[in-house]
Amino acid sequence: MWHPYRRVCVLVGAGMRLRLVTDSGAGVAPRLHCVASEQVKVTAGRTNWLMSETVTWTGSDIVSAAVGEARALYAARRPRTQALHERARAFLPGGNTRTVLYHRPFPLRVARAWDAVLEDVDGHEYVDLLGEYSAGLYGHSNPVIIKAMADALHEGISRGAHTRYEVDLAEAVCARFASIERVRFTNSGTEANLMALSAARAFTGRDRVLAFHGGYHGALLTFAAGPSPVNAPYDMLLAQYNDATAARALLREHADTVACVLVEPMLGSGGCIPGDPAFLSVLRETTRQAGALLIFDEVMTSRTGSGGLQARLAIRPDLTTLGKYIGGGSSFGAFGGRADVMELFDPARPGALPHAGTFNNNVMSMAAGHAGLTQVYTPEAAEQHTARGDGLHEELAQTFRAAGAPFQVTGVGSLLAIHATTATVQRPADLRQSDHRLLELLFLDLLELGYYIAPRGYMALSLALTSSQLTDFVQAVDKILHTRAALWSPAAS
Ligand code: PLP
Repeated sequence: MWHPYRRVCVLVGAGMRLRLVTDSGAGVAPRLHCVASEQVKVTAGRTNWLMSETVTWTGSDIVSAAVGEARALYAARRPRTQALHERARAFLPGGNTRTVLYHRPFPLRVARAWDAVLEDVDGHEYVDLLGEYSAGLYGHSNPVIIKAMADALHEGISRGAHTRYEVDLAEAVCARFASIERVRFTNSGTEANLMALSAARAFTGRDRVLAFHGGYHGALLTFAAGPSPVNAPYDMLLAQYNDATAARALLREHADTVACVLVEPMLGSGGCIPGDPAFLSVLRETTRQAGALLIFDEVMTSRTGSGGLQARLAIRPDLTTLGKYIGGGSSFGAFGGRADVMELFDPARPGALPHAGTFNNNVMSMAAGHAGLTQVYTPEAAEQHTARGDGLHEELAQTFRAAGAPFQVTGVGSLLAIHATTATVQRPADLRQSDHRLLELLFLDLLELGYYIAPRGYMALSLALTSSQLTDFVQAVDKILHTRAALWSPAAS
């Protein structure tokens, strides 16, 4: 198999052989013709291609061909990963227990991780720019976090009682996020959002929830392409993100029945699309007028600056949901906000709302979360890290522009997403033009060069990343753009 960086032909597993012919000779990617030298079967995970004659790819087929080659190379270099995937498929549907981690031909499987480095089960190392989808802010081996977890565990694992750790973390969370007067902990961001919706419904005595197309609030609250079939059965209204006029009209129309508006101040999974401050302000004003609660889902964005994205926007939601890194890298979620709403959960009150959860106060998340917020990700560190992310954002944008490549980057601070489109991106529908094959190719090419991002282009920078790792990453992107340039050159279309 031709290798884009080593410029060699390699055998791809037993019985697989491809002879790739370039248009203009050595050093140019095999974009125009792929000639099978004999009848060969290329196996990459579950994908089989049987090619018995000359195949000529043109136009966008060239991109598909390049993706096929990249997948085959990925498979060939990861026999142990593939074997584990096959074993996993016998017990886990598709070998998977977390959908987002799946990618073709079979997903990466990590054996060890330290600092900002991952090592897969086949022994390849990668600089980790994905940062566990933002939960891995502290990197993989921060000594403060490890010590906090170990110390807490040495005092006893599950105790079935209150500990001092949840008090420490609750105090730190309330100190950090101005709108959070009282807080409750959960096991995940999904659960935090479900609890926040239930709290809003109980508080207002209304049923409906207004959310946004492209919003992601967890496994049971997904609105990527309309409501997911496994969503919790709330009575939902969906509006377009960043469309203040439509949201205001919808809220006014249903003012008597809407309990709350649930919104990410930046769509995270939806493509790191920042909320327009005017749009978010309209949500604040209109919910107040309608007697509905405004819930900011800051599960991802709370790492922005010293007080979350809400502090940057100077908007005070009624409730906020948190998750990811705030548990120090262990399972975590939280919902909190106005004292008058949250006090509904005070168990000493007659008729208090119940809030169960065996692991809500698990000592690992509580202790690591507190140590992280107070000793590592201090408000100053949060400002610096956000500025660092903004710097990378600018460098990547400049790299795409200089290469004339059809990519762009969106996001806020240390949360970024690369999209394979040059069209303006204001809402998820704008991403329909993004070429997912180019993104997949970028993802696979980056793996070959030793960098790990999400297959969809998402990145969440950890504190463990060094400046030279970030500089080298930008150079790697640049190298790929130049190597693959013929894929988007006018001649290819
Ligand atoms: N809300 C947002 C904005 C998220 O990004 C996520 C996870 O990615 C969630 C909620 C769900 O969190 P969890 O995966 O912990 O359930």
